[in-house]
Amino acid sequence: MRIDVLTLFPEMLEGVFGASILGKAREKKLVALSAINFRTYATNKHNTVDDYPYGGGGGMVLKPDPVFAAVEDLEVAPDTKPRVILMCPQGETFTQAKAEELSRERHLVFICGHYEGYDERIREHLVTDELSIGDYVLTGGEIPAMAVIDSVVRLLPGVLGNESSAVTDSYSTGLLEHPHYTRPPEFRGWSVPDVLISGHHGRIEAWRREQSLLRTLQRRPELLDKVELTSKERIWLAEQKKNSEEDGVDK
Ligand code: SAM
Repeated sequence: MRIDVLTLFPEMLEGVFGASILGKAREKKLVALSAINFRTYATNKHNTVDDYPYGGGGGMVLKPDPVFAAVEDLEVAPDTKPRVILMCPQGETFTQAKAEELSRERHLVFICGHYEGYDERIREHLVTDELSIGDYVLTGGEIPAMAVIDSVVRLLPGVLGNESSAVTDSYSTGLLEHPHYTRPPEFRGWSVPDVLISGHHGRIEAWRREQSLLRTLQRRPELLDKVELTSKERIWLAEQKKNSEEDGVDK
């Protein structure tokens, strides 16, 4: 996969692209990551990439010409149509399902804004997607782009070693993940659940599934509407819900 990030602050991305799992993925050539300063595509004397908004008002607006020129200058492999993604708080909210969809692409381009906004023609005629990382506003698109890139790259084949796997991650299964424990078996009087040290794989799997269902019921019950559950699991969840409602009433 190839990923190009168009930004006015390429230095913000260097640390993230060079460290940890992303850094290793890059070393192993599983992904090519580059940050491109689109200011270098400004054509005016002072290299400005923003201007005052037509109609007045505060804030500066990113001009269309340097952004179009930077995207059009990217090297694109034959038979590849890059996804050009505008980072923007008004976009579709990023999810694990979107990360999985993007991880199947060959070339992603991220456009990071700053200031008040983008000239609307960028949105209308250049990009294929608009993505938001949540209902809040940051100063620029670099941190949102890094969040999206990190979650996409870890899904590429060969990126995660055996020490971490994306298969049982929260949201990948549609549920929140089960709790984890490691050594020591007892810490400050708090013990690891017996089942996890029983060595009985079937019972461990059953416990993990139950914990995953319970955690999802407690924290994100709306996710349960979208996952496939056995009738036994539905009955068990209804009982858990009833018990917790009764506990609430008792308090
Ligand atoms: N005036 C804009 C609005 O109300 O929609 C917000 C502009 S924001 C200060 C500047 C840039 O930060 C945006 O162009 C975008 O690239 C990025 N940004 C801010 N919040 C974001 C979010 N939640 N998700 C994705 N990008 C975001």
